[in-house]
Amino acid sequence: QSAGELVASRIATIPDFPEPGVTFRDLTPVFASAPALHALATGLTDPFAGRFDEIGGVEARGFLIAGAASALTGAGVLTVRKAGKLPRAVLREEYDLEYGRAALEVHEGELAPGARVLIVDDVLATGGTVAAAARLVERAGWQVAGISVALELTALGGRAALGDRYEIFSLLQY
Ligand code: 5GP
Repeated sequence: QSAGELVASRIATIPDFPEPGVTFRDLTPVFASAPALHALATGLTDPFAGRFDEIGGVEARGFLIAGAASALTGAGVLTVRKAGKLPRAVLREEYDLEYGRAALEVHEGELAPGARVLIVDDVLATGGTVAAAARLVERAGWQVAGISVALELTALGGRAALGDRYEIFSLLQY
């Protein structure tokens, strides 16, 4: 069984969540299974092997992936948090949600200048979330090594919205 098959076998599909008409992909069964989580962390980092120094985990499910990937690869975790949670000086990037806007933050100076950051998250939908994370990494003086996600919802056009600026990998495409 490939990493993708193992992960796919543990993704739950929930119709009409969080609102009617939306099909939600739930990765918590992947996180609950040690072999599936291991396969996910391996699958998302292998394509970028030797090309990143840190793993940028986007709150909250990206943290789980980043932590597991850190233990596997020896790279540290850059904590990319929702606005208002980090206690020291931050950089902030806003992005569009379906309704309204949200913002992500990182601590200034958290990494060495030029550090190569692999951004990870569970789902790539419209791409707004990982695009904001990528802008933060660059504004902070680090480099985006790539963007790696478990699941790409292709109909939402995130890959096209991100353009050809970044190398994007998705383990699964729905
Ligand atoms: P985007 O910014 O690409 O539109 O949305 C991606 C963000 O929303 C990710 O942080 C992801 O966790 C969350 N998201 C959007 N749709 C889903 C979904 O179907 N399942 C899960 N688990 N997260 C989703």
